[in-house]
Amino acid sequence: MNKDRPPGISPASFPLRDGGKACFDLHCHSLASDGALAPAAVARRAAANGVQVWSLTDHDELCGLEEAESAALELGMCFINGVEISVTWAGHTVHIVGLGFDRSHPVMVQGLEEIRRDRSERAERIGRRFAELGIEGTYAGALALAGNENLLSRTHFARYLWQAGHVATVQEAFDLYLRDEGPAQVPMKWATLEDAVSWILAAGGVAVIAHPGRYRYTPVQFDGLFSTFRDLGGTAIEVVTGSHRPEQYAQYESVARYYGFRASCGSDFHSKAESRADLGSLPPLPASLTPVWQGWF
Ligand code: AMP
Ligand code: MN
Ligand code: MN
Ligand code: MN
Repeated sequence: MNKDRPPGISPASFPLRDGGKACFDLHCHSLASDGALAPAAVARRAAANGVQVWSLTDHDELCGLEEAESAALELGMCFINGVEISVTWAGHTVHIVGLGFDRSHPVMVQGLEEIRRDRSERAERIGRRFAELGIEGTYAGALALAGNENLLSRTHFARYLWQAGHVATVQEAFDLYLRDEGPAQVPMKWATLEDAVSWILAAGGVAVIAHPGRYRYTPVQFDGLFSTFRDLGGTAIEVVTGSHRPEQYAQYESVARYYGFRASCGSDFHSKAESRADLGSLPPLPASLTPVWQGWF
């Protein structure tokens, strides 16, 4: 067994087709958080689109991984345990993707449980904000879509607003109300960066800064985020992601080289109607970068 290979990857060995130029998609969502498809359906869509190595990275939740793994193995894909952890750093939300960790590790399991408990109380506050803005019934509506108060995300509110006819598209619900600093946003303290990275490392995984191009930090703050993350043991950033515009690929290629980060890639697929990129549809990582999976295969 390769000693650099994290524990949460199956099968034990996987022959990459096309001399290693495999199609990797290491970031997407299912019904276990704010995606629209069941984990097995996401797996089928990934395989149909040519993905060979796949990770499901639901927000703060691991309950979709078992179904995702069995579906992936049946479809002949390699499966990597994944999660996207919500973190508050310097007053803004940052997402940290964990890859390849042991999904039953108690440190990870308990840490995520705490974040999910806070989601339900935050959703009630968002519901009250909407009522103040003159839109009633959003908490109940979002809860019915999420199916579980501990998984309630802004996406469920956005979908409810669209279904109830308050906005023309789900994106418009974010643009008008739910975006960061939008009128329906409420203050929220997620996990700390230290906690998120330490849970991932404790469980044997690799920590990745998700879609760095989405954060609204100053250059000094960005330097602080990347340096602190690296000091904590974080080793990679996403470069090619559905949450970056194509012109940002080169920008974050430079960032990865400057800080010595490995690079990850993934569609950030949530649903056909809502996502910028489909599973397996993005270009390969820039050749100058070391991929996050170097040494795993
Ligand atoms: P939450 O974790 O509840 O704060 O929800 C965050 C999720 O909402 C993200 O993972 C995205 O799926 C979605 N999201 C956040 N901001 C936007 C935005 N400006 N436009 C579209 N979707 C967004
Ligand atoms: Mn999401
Ligand atoms: Mn994200
Ligand atoms: Mn995501």
